[in-house]
Amino acid sequence: MNETYRADVIVVGAGTAGSYFAWQMGKAGFKVLVLEAADPTKLGSHIEIFHMDKIRFDEFHIPHPTGEELLHTEDVGYTWSPDLKIGQPVDYTFYVMHLPSFIRRLQGYAAQAGATILGGTRMDELLRQDGRLVGVTGTRGDASFEARARIVVDASGLDAAVRTRMSDDSGVENWKVPPEKCLYVCLELRDDIPPGFPRGSNSYLFHKAFWNRSWGEGAILGIGQPNSFDCAWKKHKEWREEYFGNPGRVLRTRQGTIPYHRPPFSLVTDGFMAIGDAACQNKPFSGEGVTSGFTGALIAAEVAAEALRKGDASRAELWPYNTRYFHGQGAKFASGLAQLPAVAELGRADVDFLFRRNIIFSSADFEELNRNYEISMGFAKLAGIGLTLLAGVVTGKFGGKALKKFLSASLRAGKIKTHYLAFPESPEDFTEWAREAARLWGEWSS
Ligand SMILES: Cc1cc2nc3c(=O)[nH]c(=O)nc-3n(C[C@H](O)[C@H](O)[C@H](O)COP(=O)(O)OP(=O)(O)OC[C@H]3O[C@@H](n4cnc5c(N)ncnc54)[C@H](O)[C@@H]3O)c2cc1C
Repeated sequence: MNETYRADVIVVGAGTAGSYFAWQMGKAGFKVLVLEAADPTKLGSHIEIFHMDKIRFDEFHIPHPTGEELLHTEDVGYTWSPDLKIGQPVDYTFYVMHLPSFIRRLQGYAAQAGATILGGTRMDELLRQDGRLVGVTGTRGDASFEARARIVVDASGLDAAVRTRMSDDSGVENWKVPPEKCLYVCLELRDDIPPGFPRGSNSYLFHKAFWNRSWGEGAILGIGQPNSFDCAWKKHKEWREEYFGNPGRVLRTRQGTIPYHRPPFSLVTDGFMAIGDAACQNKPFSGEGVTSGFTGALIAAEVAAEALRKGDASRAELWPYNTRYFHGQGAKFASGLAQLPAVAELGRADVDFLFRRNIIFSSADFEELNRNYEISMGFAKLAGIGLTLLAGVVTGKFGGKALKKFLSASLRAGKIKTHYLAFPESPEDFTEWAREAARLWGEWSS
């Protein structure tokens, strides 16, 4: 080994989740070492422009963006029915931002709080002692290194570089997210758009596509689709040509992958935690993961700090991260993930019908979904939806098959949410809980 490092916490990955976590741990007074395989100043360049909800800056105590980081502020976005006859306005303010600048700002906060960020430093393997994770080994330039800490945090994004190297009996699942459970997101940045085309923020949910603002008066035409970039670009072209033809000129393209998979049933084990995309903490209704990753990172930092103060980073001491995450955002996202594929599989005519009847695709519902990550359904609202859908089936405007799928997905989503709200307070009851969770997800039964 050419180098040896020691810290209280090692964070693998200096993206949004890892940098935010490192900042929080540095503020709490711990020695934090962040290992980043790429050049930290260039992270986010493959995406370039992204969206972040304005309200989350206050929630996570991050100063609002200014200068080169902030391209636009969008107070209203439109969500379009497939026939383009209805564009639901959604009053919910988003910032359109430059991702590399934002990540650099978060890294700056982490560094000011005392964290060390090592760029060009790849974690290759795990270090174990008596079966317990005690650090990692890796490569920095031509040299190899060993880094030891009481907690290793996986913030390595979709790769989940630490979690997927854990042993089968470690207490966390070590699967990789398969291509069919990923969203391949393809972006086209266009300029010189002639008059008559959309402006501002526009979602085309049926196609999982969007037309948003880019630099200046330019636009980003984006889509997210499973399986591969080839499939996603093909769908992008079909959607663009059908709705807009070939407006303006393409400046450049961007692409990246995000997980669209349930999180591991446990996010912790002895000396280990997972946050951000590595923990599949993405919003089920959009795949976005920056602010929802902050939710995980903030809880993880509070729990890690408490455990380190006690001098015990065991699975039991880190367990409150699981309970706090899965009793809150985790339960809502699990329910959304179970429900939304049924919505995504609806036919065009069905989605047009839902838009016309203001069901799920209403302005108020979209706003609530952005704000609270779920749409509250009192009995009166549910009954109203049921009756309108039935009337749609009877009059041939809504498919009977779609209704059946929709209802069974809703039922399953409800059960999944209830199960996550009952996530066990202690690891002793976890095996039983995980067995039932796997059954509800349709993964395993015995
Ligand atoms: C095209 C596109 C558009 C998107 N738009 C939005 C949006 O508008 N709003 C939004 O909220 N979300 C958006 N997302 C999702 C969002 O980008 C991710 O959810 C978020 O960046 C995840 O952050 P993270 O820190 O968990 O992981 P990442 O940003 O993936 O960071 C992980 C880091 O770990 C490093 N790493 C990996 N393996 C190792 C290793 N072995 N050793 C050392 N380092 C390693 C990687 O180099 C990387 O820098 C978009 C995603 C894509 C692909």
